[in-house]
Amino acid sequence: MKNPDILVVGGGASGVIAAITAARRGASVTVLEREKKPLQKLLRTGNGRCNLTNTGPDRFVYHGTDPAFAREVLRNFTVQETISLFLSLGVYTTNHDGWVYPYSEQAETVAKSLLMECSRLHVKIKNNEKVTGIKKTSSGFDIFTESWTYRAGRVILATGSSASLKSPEDENGPSLAASLGLPCIKRTPALVPLIAGGAERPGWAGVRIPGKVSLYAEDLFISSEEGQLQLTDYGISGIPVFCISGNAAKLMDAGHRCSVEIDFFPEMDTDELRAFLDFRRSSLLREEPDMLLTGLFPEKLIPVLTKKNSLSDTRALAENIKSFRLTVAGTQDARNAQVLGGGVLTEAVDPASCESRLHPGLFLTGELLDIDAACGGWNLQFAWSTGVLAGRTAAKETKNSYDKDH
Ligand SMILES: Cc1cc2nc3c(=O)[nH]c(=O)nc-3n(C[C@H](O)[C@H](O)[C@H](O)COP(=O)(O)OP(=O)(O)OC[C@H]3O[C@@H](n4cnc5c(N)ncnc54)[C@H](O)[C@@H]3O)c2cc1C
Repeated sequence: MKNPDILVVGGGASGVIAAITAARRGASVTVLEREKKPLQKLLRTGNGRCNLTNTGPDRFVYHGTDPAFAREVLRNFTVQETISLFLSLGVYTTNHDGWVYPYSEQAETVAKSLLMECSRLHVKIKNNEKVTGIKKTSSGFDIFTESWTYRAGRVILATGSSASLKSPEDENGPSLAASLGLPCIKRTPALVPLIAGGAERPGWAGVRIPGKVSLYAEDLFISSEEGQLQLTDYGISGIPVFCISGNAAKLMDAGHRCSVEIDFFPEMDTDELRAFLDFRRSSLLREEPDMLLTGLFPEKLIPVLTKKNSLSDTRALAENIKSFRLTVAGTQDARNAQVLGGGVLTEAVDPASCESRLHPGLFLTGELLDIDAACGGWNLQFAWSTGVLAGRTAAKETKNSYDKDH
């Protein structure tokens, strides 16, 4: 078998876009994918609608040891360039308050468009090929799978993360990188539900309500997010919870005690809410706290909010609604996470090309790197930008450099 110019390890979002970018520049590319088909995770993104990027400001959305790396990457391949790239693949987009989706609102059509382009460009995709080892040689890299040793002058490691997989322990991307001497840090779940609370949980399971959730570590405020909260039998979920969960996971992993404070009525401050409750009490003649809250909150939530002892006092009731404290016991595990934090430290990678600083010819993309982002399309944007930069640079000196040397 003729060696390709470029081998891509992992047929996810970043690997496939890297393959397309390199092949459009004339490189021969083979993608090795361990699953039966590529792009399986992409199909599940955005609840099947694929929130593929975001046109809002990216200032505080990226997390990791060095979030500035992600912003630099996005300067080198921007959101607008990404939207144009998708247009060139036949994917017309639609924008909902900055969150960008395919016009079809079907992730499947994005995956199909990417794979049609791979086929047009003769990108070879080898499924059921799990890479188990990688070795640097004098003229490139040997890549080992159970059945074969592949060789190429340039390799793009795009193994993503094990977020949402049934067996997260099977992830080996970071250990492949570490075997080449690249620095990695421990994975922790991000964009994941929190296990929190205690007695209130059986009562409130199933409630969905707008609110604001704030994270504290040892009573120190860390961050807060507002949006639709989902109250569950294990704790809390929903987009705002996902957005604070990465920090919570890292802080708890470092031994800190975390708690959350929920504001179930962000529309008013505590004094306004108290006045509003007093007005309801006098105008509606509702003396009992639970009667007072009827028509304001979901029925299942009312007994939870009124449970504390002296809540016939409207100030105490307003305070409880505005500052409902829960201890965080942990996060759900990688199986229930949308992304994982940690991975290969970005100091090992050039943000202009995603090339390893240690091993020229080796590129690292997407979630394998120690970057995770808030909800809204930012994780996929990082996958697209890193994939394009890697594919572009890897294709620069192709023409079968490995073959030439052998
Ligand atoms: C349920 C869910 C919903 C999401 N929704 C969104 C969203 O709407 N918007 C958004 O921006 N982000 C979303 N994300 C996150 C986003 O999907 C990821 O950040 C993105 O897919 C990362 O791309 P990647 O190429 O780095 O990795 P992946 O997409 O994880 O791809 C990695 C690929 O490498 C393969 N692989 C791994 N190891 C090996 C190996 N050793 N050998 C060969 N192949 C290997 C894997 O099978 C996989 O196909 C969501 C994630 C989940 C789980």
